Amino acid sequence: MSGSLVIQTSFLGDVILTTPLIAELAKRGPVDVLVTPEGAAVLANNPDIRNVIRYDKRGTYGATLSLWQTVRQLRSRRPYDAAYLAQGSFRSGLLAMLTGAKERIGFASSTGRVTYTTQIAYRPGRHHAERLWSLSMSECADPPIPEQIRPRLYPSDEERLVVDRMLRRGGSLDEPFVALAPGSAWGTKRWPYYIELARKLGDDFRIAIIGSKADGAIAEEITAALPAGCVINAVGVLPLLASAELIGRAQAIVTNDSAPQHLASAMGTPTLTIFGPTVPEFGFGPLAERHATAGLDGLPCRPCDRHGPQRCPLTHWRCMRELSPEYIASLLTEVINPPVPV
Ligand code: SF4
Repeated sequence: MSGSLVIQTSFLGDVILTTPLIAELAKRGPVDVLVTPEGAAVLANNPDIRNVIRYDKRGTYGATLSLWQTVRQLRSRRPYDAAYLAQGSFRSGLLAMLTGAKERIGFASSTGRVTYTTQIAYRPGRHHAERLWSLSMSECADPPIPEQIRPRLYPSDEERLVVDRMLRRGGSLDEPFVALAPGSAWGTKRWPYYIELARKLGDDFRIAIIGSKADGAIAEEITAALPAGCVINAVGVLPLLASAELIGRAQAIVTNDSAPQHLASAMGTPTLTIFGPTVPEFGFGPLAERHATAGLDGLPCRPCDRHGPQRCPLTHWRCMRELSPEYIASLLTEVINPPVPV
């Protein structure tokens, strides 16, 4: 059997949200996944995947040569029974055609839909993990149960050891901590009060800061605001799956609408996501069993953009500035200690 090919060359969060689709397809036969090098790192050790194929859209010699090399690599195998277009560009659709895949399945709203043999309705009101999972189902299938659309990641023993060592530094393995992920690629999605929140939480918890090298400055500011030894600054030093493992050990995480909330969904960590210019209804909210979202209701300009602009077009940035640290801390308390049902 030649199996299925899943093409997902979007952002890291989208790759994580594609793992339920991959798990569903793996029940039917072997699955290969084509992703960017960054996406490949997050899919390591995934038992549902036969081969991870790296496609560097921004390769040294440009996208065209990279596309040609990838097609040559894929055509050297038996044609796939089906290709699933989790990313909907025309280039991805063309790539699926050139592999010789007999069926090509993607969303009816995608740019690349002219290259598909089957178009599936894109349901705007559903979570994106469910939308992607639905590519593998008939239109009349029952809706999924939560477990079917929960993302899955698989940190290795080595990554667990790295996290063990990090937690032992200045503390013990079982000391409770809260993870904070203050970054985002989009400026207006970065809630501005993480330092104040860290000060509030610092009395009860150690604080772990999660993020990429780009978040180094805010991580330094948070670290400087708390007593020595209270902060585990993991920004820019951990591989992606080790970051997932660290998040998995936390009592809870506070994050913007960005990739760490999807890492937390996969690791089952209670999650509080802060939404500014975007809203959970876009389909990218947290999926951990215990979660909450914060957002300023009733603001006429919100949401203003699917991704979140770099700067507030109205300059006041009320969607984030009016979410106080006190409010976020109270929501977090409910996420960590949910009210007992009566
Ligand atoms: S326009 Fe409104 S929703 Fe958009 S960034 Fe500004 S305050 Fe936020």
